[in-house]
Amino acid sequence: MAQRVHYRRKNHYNTKSNKVRPVRTPGGRLTIHVVKKKAAKPKCADCKNEIQGVKALRPIDNQRADKKHRTVSRAYGGSICAKCIRERIMRAFLFEEQKCVRQVLKEKKKQEKKVKKVTKVSKNKKKAPSKDAKNKTAPKSGKKPVAAKTVPKGVANKKKAK
Ligand SMILES: [Zn+2]
Repeated sequence: MAQRVHYRRKNHYNTKSNKVRPVRTPGGRLTIHVVKKKAAKPKCADCKNEIQGVKALRPIDNQRADKKHRTVSRAYGGSICAKCIRERIMRAFLFEEQKCVRQVLKEKKKQEKKVKKVTKVSKNKKKAPSKDAKNKTAPKSGKKPVAAKTVPKGVANKKKAK
């Protein structure tokens, strides 16, 4: 008949936290070791997949462990996986680019409206052609290059960051 063993600590019930493992001692006696609960692996907050490079520790061990075991050196390192953070960065970047493009288009429309107004006025009144000519040329030369500069700047910065 198999040898019987009994609990050696105060908890005498077969609960989740009181799992044991039979062990044969060097003296030939059969005793038990209490087995710690298995720690859940850290999951990504977005896709719920396991995060690489982070240890699976029980809460108290997690508190005591060094930071290098709990995180990865990246934005949202220990809580979101690399794939998801890459997607987020891409989304943010494209959103910003779209904003830039929208602004440029708005400025272009404004300029077109101004030019149309100026031409209408000049056709109707025919008073001072020299002033109208100045108005036409000034906004074109002043604003267009600025708008053209803003878009490549953003693109260049993001590419460098990557
Ligand atoms: Zn993820």
